[in-house]
Amino acid sequence: MSRFLEERYQKLTPYTPGEQPKVKDLIKLNTNESPYPPGPKTLAAVTDPDLAAGLRRYNDPEAGRLRDLLAARYGVSRENVYVSNGSDDILNFSFQAFGGDGVLFPAISYGFYQVFADLHQRDYVKVPLRADLTIDPRDYMDKGRLVVLANPNAPTGRTLSLPEIEEILRHNEDHVVLIDEAYVDFGGASSVPLTKEYPNLLVTMTFSKSRSLAGARLGFAIGDRGLIQDLERLKYATNPYNVNSLTQAAGAAALAEEDYYQANCRRIMKTRERTAAALKEMGFQVVPSQANFLFVRTDRMAGGDLYQALRDRKILVRHFDQEEIRDYNRITIGTDQEMDALIQAVGEILAGKEA
Ligand code: PMP
Repeated sequence: MSRFLEERYQKLTPYTPGEQPKVKDLIKLNTNESPYPPGPKTLAAVTDPDLAAGLRRYNDPEAGRLRDLLAARYGVSRENVYVSNGSDDILNFSFQAFGGDGVLFPAISYGFYQVFADLHQRDYVKVPLRADLTIDPRDYMDKGRLVVLANPNAPTGRTLSLPEIEEILRHNEDHVVLIDEAYVDFGGASSVPLTKEYPNLLVTMTFSKSRSLAGARLGFAIGDRGLIQDLERLKYATNPYNVNSLTQAAGAAALAEEDYYQANCRRIMKTRERTAAALKEMGFQVVPSQANFLFVRTDRMAGGDLYQALRDRKILVRHFDQEEIRDYNRITIGTDQEMDALIQAVGEILAGKEA
């Protein structure tokens, strides 16, 4: 850190992304990416020579084609869709734009919420979860702040129902309710239809998980026209070209092969249920998940020890050094083969410990 950095940024604790190690033969189950490659149309789109030649030009700042395709896919209009360089960017803007009266989010949720609250010096309240790691919707009603909820929540995988979300919306007429649906394609119910009725609802989604494009960085938000205009306002005050042309093309192509990605989601959900059953059989508590990961703990071993033992066997999962969830590990659902290797390794680790 240099002495030139403004003091408030010196004090900021940035987000720690999951590791992206380049170790060979590693089974990487730590950052909730898809285990399956982008589909053939997506691959063809990003390797198109015309697209490459066109890189000398600026990309479409409005991302018109991509937004039209998203609008058609989600049954809204172009003016209800905002696209960005990953959905993290939308979260950032939302804390900046809508967090003036403070922010409310669960104590156990996506770690970036806390970072954005700090970055924008928002007064925030972190609400504890119930003992079963579910969110109590009543905690988010009439609190006079921006509400930010991941649904499904991360790292738990637990969901709120649409009637519960609607109740939260009704009790926050004067504040934005942001529903972060990064993991909605793995069995959750989307709040998008509610955006037509509730002008205070902003739903964010991403191509990073269900559509195998984490490295392309493409997120989007759906909401009332006014909210989308607010995000555009910040974008045109920051970086009008926030989604590059390769990514716009990749996103458009991905939407043209939704069947491929939906089939992958179904596969991942099947693998998730099989993995959950196997871990339960080994005595694990497995939190019911509607996401592409499982959040698990066992009395037989400390969370950090299991993380390390798996790492020693070249299997990388995510352990959070946060008091309430220190016993847990979050395991991304990989291919069936990868999960077989995980299950076998866990079995051997536990057997070795008790030998
Ligand atoms: N929300 C949640 C809950 C997430 O877990 C993630 C992924 N780390 C994101 C948003 C951000 O995803 P991206 O920026 O890749 O769209």
